[in-house]
Amino acid sequence: HRIKELMDLDKKHFLHPTSPIKQQQDQGPSFIFTEGKGIYLKDIEGNTVIDGMSSLWNVNIGHGNEELGKSAMEQMSKLAFSSCFATFSNEPAIRLAAKLAQVSPGDLSATFFTSGGSEANDTAYKLARHYWILRGQPNRKKIISRTKSYHGVAMGSTNATGLKPFRDFTNSFDPDFCYADHFSTEDLRRVIEAEGPETIAAFIAEPIQGAGGLHIAPEDYFKEVRRICDEYGLLFITDEVITGFGRTGKYFGMEHYHVAPDMMCFAKGVTSGYAQLGGVMLSEKIHQDFMELSTGTLLHGYTYSGHPMACAVALKNIELIEQEGLIENAEKMGIELLTGLKRIQGERRIVGKVKGLGLMAGLELLKDCQTKKTFENPVSPLIVAEAAKRGLICRSVVFDGQDVVVFAPPLIIKKEEIDKLIDIINESIAAVEEAIVK
Ligand code: PLP
Repeated sequence: HRIKELMDLDKKHFLHPTSPIKQQQDQGPSFIFTEGKGIYLKDIEGNTVIDGMSSLWNVNIGHGNEELGKSAMEQMSKLAFSSCFATFSNEPAIRLAAKLAQVSPGDLSATFFTSGGSEANDTAYKLARHYWILRGQPNRKKIISRTKSYHGVAMGSTNATGLKPFRDFTNSFDPDFCYADHFSTEDLRRVIEAEGPETIAAFIAEPIQGAGGLHIAPEDYFKEVRRICDEYGLLFITDEVITGFGRTGKYFGMEHYHVAPDMMCFAKGVTSGYAQLGGVMLSEKIHQDFMELSTGTLLHGYTYSGHPMACAVALKNIELIEQEGLIENAEKMGIELLTGLKRIQGERRIVGKVKGLGLMAGLELLKDCQTKKTFENPVSPLIVAEAAKRGLICRSVVFDGQDVVVFAPPLIIKKEEIDKLIDIINESIAAVEEAIVK
């Protein structure tokens, strides 16, 4: 009775984020989750599933962590909210900003807080533009991003998103946003030259592209990007919204490339999803320039910038990630995950390529691995559906003619849980292969 009531209310009143609207209307929610523990989620019907995506690449510490719950409750009861506008501040926000300066790459040293990744990205573009106004170069307005990138859904981050369907959705084709091929520094150079370097504020990139189908750039790509940004005087912004806080087996994804950005966006894993928080970090130099050149008010800020409860949760989350060695675990378990997926590649004929770094991984599906021919209709959604039936949540990416299943389990995952995930995905692919042959 309660389940039916909730299904009906959901269909009638709840417009879901990124939802297949018709399917949602016809069938209602596929899971109504009620509890989570470790890598598992439980739904209202009592089904338990492995959260192979850490929900939205964000529950790094796993579900049901009572210490995080306690830190939220303590801060809520003491001071749930006070504003950080102008000269007001609070201790959790101050301590978190200091902690981030200590653990982030290069000389990133000051943080502007937001409530999530989209806001972090829009903030980065606005701060980059404002920076050039302060530096007397107001024509530097354009943001260059990459093909297959995803940066969020605010107006700026939608425009920066290389995946075109997200821009088509709202007819978002702001000429101040341009795109370079995600793996080619020659193409980045070409776009800069074509647009005119004096019109460009910044280049933004995810260290590893997640939502766009799990793309790992060539080893020397980011070193060359850094050189090009310096050569043309562009700010280099990294979007570590997914790759931050241990996801890739390092604290931040850019550490794999030994390159330091001028600004860095973060969100998701900073609180493991237990509270809504994101932000942008500025390098010492950019921060100093702001301090020296600014004469007026920084006219950008969200009500929840520096939310005390969210910052308290982030501090506890980071402490636990460090204490429990979760970054090292992500590196180790990432190798197990990749090894398991490679074994599947050997056993199943529709798996074309396997890729991953830390606990971010993907399987590319091909109709014919010899000729690299893809399926007319992508099969990754079928595999994801089969996996859900067998107790595993993973995600399919079909943008730009891709056909990929991606995984990003919580960083607390153990070897036997990886084995279970691998078994389920192998069975799911086998079931789809069989159905296709029929
Ligand atoms: N940037 C990247 C790389 C992301 O993957 C995402 C979300 O998936 C965002 C930004 C947007 O973050 P949010 O959904 O918190 O607004």
